[in-house]
Amino acid sequence: MGRAFVYVIVGGGVAAGYAALEFTKRGISSGELCIISDEPVAPYERPALSKGYLLPEAPARLPSFHTCVGENEERQTPKWYKERGIELVLGTRVKSADLKRNTLLTSTGETISYKFLIIATGARALKLEEFGVKGSDAENVCYLRDLADANRVVDVMQSCTGGNAVVIGGGYIGMECAASLVINKINVTMVFPEAHCMARLFTPEIASFYEGYYESKGVKFVKGTVLSSFEFDSNGKVAAVILRDGNRLPADMVVVGIGIRPNTTLFEGQLALEKGGIKVNGRLQASNSNGSVYAVGDVATFPVKLFGETRRLEHVDSARKSARYAVAAIMDPENTGEFDYLPFFYSRVFALSWQFYGDIGGEVIHFGDFSGGKFGAYWVSNGHLVGSFLEGGTKEEYKAISKATRLKPAIDDLAMLETQGLGFALAV
Ligand code: FAD
Repeated sequence: MGRAFVYVIVGGGVAAGYAALEFTKRGISSGELCIISDEPVAPYERPALSKGYLLPEAPARLPSFHTCVGENEERQTPKWYKERGIELVLGTRVKSADLKRNTLLTSTGETISYKFLIIATGARALKLEEFGVKGSDAENVCYLRDLADANRVVDVMQSCTGGNAVVIGGGYIGMECAASLVINKINVTMVFPEAHCMARLFTPEIASFYEGYYESKGVKFVKGTVLSSFEFDSNGKVAAVILRDGNRLPADMVVVGIGIRPNTTLFEGQLALEKGGIKVNGRLQASNSNGSVYAVGDVATFPVKLFGETRRLEHVDSARKSARYAVAAIMDPENTGEFDYLPFFYSRVFALSWQFYGDIGGEVIHFGDFSGGKFGAYWVSNGHLVGSFLEGGTKEEYKAISKATRLKPAIDDLAMLETQGLGFALAV
C-alpha cells in the first residue's frame, strides 16, 4: 500500500509545526502535505515541557501549547490540520528512507512518496548507558524530551514531595528541571562535571549569579564530578546516586539532562553529515543530488552566514525559523535568498529570564548590576561585537542587543564598551 504527496515532513515537532504554518500561508492544496510523526500528538512547543508543564498549579497541558502559539500564531490542533487538508500521520515511525526513489517506509508498512522531503526528526536525549552507567529504566529515573517523558517527570515528582531529587547535568534541561522541582517542594542537588552551570554558554561571572540565585532557593551544587552508579532499593527503584568522587547522594528521584543526539540514522549513508547533524547548504538542502531533500531544526547543520561557519543549533528559534525558511525556499525559490540566521537562545527559570544572541568567542565584557539582577555581557572577536547576553531585560532592550549583534559593529575600545554597557546596544 502507498500514498503520494508533493511535500512530506518526517518528524512532528516544533519545526514541523512551523513548516506547516508556512505552507498554509503560502498556499497549498488539500492533500499535498503530509507530516509523519512517531509522537501521538500534533506538533507542540517543546520548551513548555520543562516550564509550564511542570508547574504544581495550573500546569500547561495540550492543546494549549500546540505550535505555533510560541510566536503568537494560531494554535494548530489536529482539527487545524484536517481543515487545511494536511495529512497528519501520528504515532507512526518512519522506519527507512529511500532517497533515490523518493519514498519512506513507515512502521505500519505504508510506503509514502514525496516530491519534496523536509527532514525534521530533531534529536533524542542521551542515555546514561551511553556513558557506561546502568539503571535508566528504573521507574524514578527521568529524562525529558517528549510528552511521555514529561508525564513521567510529573508522576514521579508528585510521588516524592518533600523528598530529594538529584539532577544530573548543568545545561538547559538540568537548570530548568531543577527550578521546577524546587517549585514542587522537592530538595534538589545538581551534579555536573564542569566548573559551573551552562558551561557551553555562560561565563563564570554569569554562572555565579544563577548558581547563587538557585542556592538561595535551596538548590545544592556538586561540581567537577559525575555519576558513577546507582544504588537500588528492593523494588528496583533508585535509592541513591554514587558519584565518581565517592560521595553518595540519597535520591527519591533522578532527572538526567546530559545532552542530545540528532536523529540522523534514517539518512546515514545517503546524506552527508557534519557536526553530528545532516549537512545542508545555505538553502537548507541536503547533499543528495536532486535537491529535493531539506533538513531543518535540531537535526540540521547549516551555514551561519554571519559567522562564516556551519553550526548545528539545539534551540527552538532556529527550529522555527529554519522550518519556515525551507518552505519559502521550496515554494518560492526565485525570491528566497540564502538562510541568514542570527543564533538566539533563551531560558526562563523562577522569576529570571535571559536572552543571548550571536556567538561566544573572543573577549567578554560584562556590564550592569549583577547583585540587582539586571546585567549582561558582550563578546568581542577580531574587533567586532559578535555576541550579547542580557538578564532581566525589557522587550525593547532584548531587541536592541539582537539588532546590535546582527550589525557586528566595530569595537575599538573595550573599556568604553564596558562603561556604556546596555547603553551601547540601545544606541546602535
Ligand atoms: P523536535 O521538536 O524534537 O521534533 C522532532 C520530531 O521528530 C519528534 O516529534 C520526534 O518524535 C520525531 N521523529 C524523530 N524520528 C522520527 C522517525 N523516524 N519517524 C517519525 N517521527 C520521528 N530551546 C530554546 O531555545 N529555549 C528553551 O527554553 C528550550 N527549552 C526546551 C525544553 C525541553 C524540555 C526540551 C526537550 C527542549 C527545549 N528547547 C529549548 C529546545 C527546542 O525544543 C528544540 O530546539 C526544538 O524542539 C527542535 O525542534 P525540531 O522540530 O528540530 O525537533
